[in-house]
Amino acid sequence: SKVPPIILNNGIEMPQLGFGVWQVPDDEAEQAVATALESGYRSIDTAAVYANEEGTGKAIAKSGIAREKLFVTTKLWNSEQGYDATLRAFDTSLDKLGLDYVDLYLIHWPMPAKGVYVDTYKAFEKILADGRAKSIGVSNFLPEHLERLIDATSVIPAVNQIELHPHLQQRASREYHAQQGITTEAWSPLGQGKGLLEVPAIVAIAQKHARTPAQVVLRWHIQLGNVVIPKSVTPSRIQENIDVFGFELDPEDMAAISALNEDRRLGPDPAEFETV
Ligand code: NAD
Repeated sequence: SKVPPIILNNGIEMPQLGFGVWQVPDDEAEQAVATALESGYRSIDTAAVYANEEGTGKAIAKSGIAREKLFVTTKLWNSEQGYDATLRAFDTSLDKLGLDYVDLYLIHWPMPAKGVYVDTYKAFEKILADGRAKSIGVSNFLPEHLERLIDATSVIPAVNQIELHPHLQQRASREYHAQQGITTEAWSPLGQGKGLLEVPAIVAIAQKHARTPAQVVLRWHIQLGNVVIPKSVTPSRIQENIDVFGFELDPEDMAAISALNEDRRLGPDPAEFETV
């Protein structure tokens, strides 16, 4: 594959770049994932709440790519937290995907006020022990949530998938993850394509390297060691977003992008976000 792997804390390899399918309707997911797989992506990031595990699974089945060459992530939705509900929700996800294991299963949000992420994770440890997930981890966990989880359970999460882009660089989380051996995975790595790709400093670096702003932002993540899962349903952009391994940003480019941090979230604050 064109994408180099990151080695997780359990020795398993995860492609450093994958394809995210949030907000892709189920009937469009099959085509989008098929295009991604044809373009060389081998890692796909979905979630129960995206309601496109079936379309994603169909594209995987039809691709003819050997299962062990793929890295499939899905996530447990908030309403299913708790030990027994998690085991049931995981069965449903596997069923919809049409798979007998996932590569990575994540708790989607900590929901600290509900306070059941430790029980939820104990079900994840069982799923891991049964070989139905090759790796387990979390998403949107703050260091305080990870600390409590690590104290109360035996498997350190392989991954924490968090909102991360040049306007929200998450230095405290990234440092904590590095200390604990947790891989940082960036969601909305392109800042959802909004203002970020028009920022003059990024446009200038793109012109300098004859690349696009999206490629520059993804390359910045790659050089920091983040796993990225950019989303697009446009074939040319799907191809463009994986074509980031044939050039390198200079130290001054990295510094200029790192100077763009505004600690500004596009999504919810994990300390506050609770759904039913
Ligand atoms: P993103 O940062 O990947 O941006 C996607 C948007 O950027 C596209 O819809 C498009 O408008 C634009 N874009 C993409 N490629 C482009 C290009 N080459 N040139 C110009 N514009 C381009 O945002 P995202 O979809 O929010 O995040 C990526 C993935 O992260 C999601 O699909 C999902 O898998 C995951 N995610 C996870 C969580 C979580 O809570 N764990 C939350 C949000 C997203």
